[in-house]
Amino acid sequence: MIDLKNVVIKEKKVDTILTKSNLPIAGYSINPYVGCPFACRYCYATFMKRFTNHKEDWGMFLDVKYWNKINNPQKYKGKTMIIGSVTDGYNYFEAKYKRTRTFLEEMQGSGINLIVTTKSNLVTRDIDLIKNYPNPLVSWSMNILDERFKKDMENTPTIKSRIEAMKQIHDEGIRTTCFISPIFPGITDVFSIIEEIKDFCDYIWLENLNLRGSFKGTIMNYIKEKYPALYPLYDEIYNKKNISYWEMLDKQVEEYANKNRYMYVIDEEPFFKNPTGKPIIINYFYHEKIRQSSKKR
Ligand code: SF4
Repeated sequence: MIDLKNVVIKEKKVDTILTKSNLPIAGYSINPYVGCPFACRYCYATFMKRFTNHKEDWGMFLDVKYWNKINNPQKYKGKTMIIGSVTDGYNYFEAKYKRTRTFLEEMQGSGINLIVTTKSNLVTRDIDLIKNYPNPLVSWSMNILDERFKKDMENTPTIKSRIEAMKQIHDEGIRTTCFISPIFPGITDVFSIIEEIKDFCDYIWLENLNLRGSFKGTIMNYIKEKYPALYPLYDEIYNKKNISYWEMLDKQVEEYANKNRYMYVIDEEPFFKNPTGKPIIINYFYHEKIRQSSKKR
């Protein structure tokens, strides 16, 4: 657990908060901060340290961005903007600095498609602003209901508070996503999470744990120490590149979806229309081979 008092905070002037994105789901990404005190051990955004010359550990610094006011926001009408691709716009310091809220205020009336991704319940503070966007979507990521495992991996608000926030936002008529990510083999129980949120969730996105770069060693060592019985499985998946675990899970999700009459699709864009009134499950498993084999069905 990070002591927030030790996080090095700097306020920074930037020209713009709008960054053109190559994410498949959005034309622009909005990151009101550099760094993230949620400090997930599996965070893929730690490369931002290199880009911004930070020497502190991930989670121990935060640059607060101040940008030039967005001129004529209407010119972005119809564009999709995602908040939180390499930081969490609702990290603990947003309560004080309100940079995400400022962005939402500046873009009022612009007609953009807004996606907010977070691990926090603080997003409920901004329901008044989010509601005004044409078809907003708020997504919470979580990968377990067990708060102890969550504490080992993340310095985030509780899972319980995220689920309550999801319900509150859904009750306000805003579309919600439960992003079950990253799925830890043998630890994440996809189905118990779905059962917990299915009544107030429009989309369920699934993404497998993808161990790349510096955190591979951290996670493998953690598994060896805390879940030694699972280590051979992790070794198969992440050292020997065996994908059969993901193929099996893909099959199980398909069976679960068929049984419960949920639509289950592979790699669809996240706004895929939902004619069922039940959550749509969208599989974003990383591995190309799984995508191809699944698409043949
Ligand atoms: S909340 Fe997202 S950006 Fe922040 S540390 Fe976790 S994975 Fe990284």
